[in-house]
Amino acid sequence: MTNEFDDVLEANRKFAENFSLSGFDGVAHAGIALVTCMDSRIDPLGMLGLHAGDAKIFRNPGGRVTEAALEALVLGVHLLNVKRILVVPHTRCAMSSSTLDQVRQQVGASAGQDVSWQTFSMVTDQAAALRDDVHKVRAHPLIPDTVAVGGFVYDVDTGLMDQLV
Ligand SMILES: [Zn+2]
Repeated sequence: MTNEFDDVLEANRKFAENFSLSGFDGVAHAGIALVTCMDSRIDPLGMLGLHAGDAKIFRNPGGRVTEAALEALVLGVHLLNVKRILVVPHTRCAMSSSTLDQVRQQVGASAGQDVSWQTFSMVTDQAAALRDDVHKVRAHPLIPDTVAVGGFVYDVDTGLMDQLV
């Protein structure tokens, strides 16, 4: 079968030739869970000095602690060895540097239709949103106080993380 995914399937076959994670248990070996943005400038394992198997990673636009992120964190803490949680939005994130109107205008222009019905979770104050998000994790009844929770901003121009919370 020839299709638009031939290049990645070919790359996957090469990857599988040296596959070393067979039979792996799937827990977070470094005890870390990370919530971060979908931005392609972020290398979530590399920026923390981690490797495949070390961490649970949840990504979405803006790196927000959504209901789905909390679900992942609860599973991580209780079933997958997570002891530390990092919430890591980043500098120059489109979700915090654009307004809802701007994003709707851009997506609308690309889609060629009205997109006012589509939700985009824009962030008006990134530091305040991060504090709220870290609080949501810390205050969650199923995430015990023994789990360390930190809020950081990743700088996409230097690769450095700055702890805010
Ligand atoms: Zn982003």
